[in-house]
Amino acid sequence: MARIANRVAGFGTTIFTEINELALQHKAINLGQGRPDFDGPAEVIQAAVDALLHNANANQYPPGAGTSTLRKAIADHASRFYNLEIDPVKGALVTAGATEAIFSCILGTVDRGDEVILIEPYFDSYLPNLIFAGITPVYVPLHPPTWTFDPDELRAAFTSKTRAIILNTPQNPTGRVFTMEEMTLIADLCKEHDVTVISDEVYEHLIFDDARHIPMATLPGMLERTLTVSSMGKSFSVTGWKIGWVYGAPELLEGVSRAHQFVTFSANHPAQIAAAHALSLPGTYFEEFQAMYTAKRDLLTSALKNAGMKVNAPEGTYFIMADFSDVFDGDDLEFARYLTSEIGVACIPPTGFFSTEHAHMAATQARFAFCKSDSLLQEAGNRLARLSR
Ligand code: GLN
Repeated sequence: MARIANRVAGFGTTIFTEINELALQHKAINLGQGRPDFDGPAEVIQAAVDALLHNANANQYPPGAGTSTLRKAIADHASRFYNLEIDPVKGALVTAGATEAIFSCILGTVDRGDEVILIEPYFDSYLPNLIFAGITPVYVPLHPPTWTFDPDELRAAFTSKTRAIILNTPQNPTGRVFTMEEMTLIADLCKEHDVTVISDEVYEHLIFDDARHIPMATLPGMLERTLTVSSMGKSFSVTGWKIGWVYGAPELLEGVSRAHQFVTFSANHPAQIAAAHALSLPGTYFEEFQAMYTAKRDLLTSALKNAGMKVNAPEGTYFIMADFSDVFDGDDLEFARYLTSEIGVACIPPTGFFSTEHAHMAATQARFAFCKSDSLLQEAGNRLARLSR
């Protein structure tokens, strides 16, 4: 009889889809999925329109590795913001979003039977990606409420089988931005055990207050063993474009390219042309972007506190983790369902971003996204205030 494969048999629907459907059903304000309700910069959208209408070449396959203009823009951006020297020809690759980038990094640099360290809570696609490739995950939790790892637990995760670690900074869902001390410990262990870092830095421009984004590739000796992943979606509010990239040492990139050519072959051509334009926007764009998001973070942080939740304002990303234990008895899934159906605000229950062993660490937590218009965040605040009553 026709049946589905064992490798997907254990997968449910992603929590993002599940919460989106629940939010729709209850007409809830959806602070679940990180999906901006506003548009990207007009001139970036216009660049895509121009490519579609006036550049017949753009409506056909781009080079598999991405257009040379976009790869140069990726290298220039890394040089401008982080002083990194990236080879735009052999050191940068364009993918169908960061999600494909990470999958191609795993397929291209880690072997079946190897171990890969995941820092929990981890973004939900990392684990299925490892499962597809027959790789064993090894978990290192960030502990609430500060969401820091225990150095001894990290050290113990490195074995003779460790091939890579997937790092995410600024970190979804905790909003942590790893400090130089934390980054240095990770880097030292990777050098000691000859481990590759797959560094998911898609929230690189979403940084608040005194936090500073430290790309793993900028640490001494790390450029040669780090694959840096980023994308258009978060930095330019175009999550639907699905344009991502990887940059790093040509030797490692070679493996990623070999995988990428048979995963998607290439990524959307008109969006690549616009992406090159976006990455070249002046510094003022990125400053205004941060100021806009700082105000949104403050708005939602006070709304959640006002509703009786315990919150540490995030250092980066557009997510807030809030502890609801003072206002609700039950676990994170029950809370997310209650909040969506009874209060009219949807959030993401984060236990799914943990291994079964460590899921209890998030049992009284909810993740809220603030990539929304101020008026929507205000209305969410009004609804959330009913929680504490
Ligand atoms: N990265 C976004 C989030 O964490 C969207 C994820 C998704 O829908 N797959 O909300």
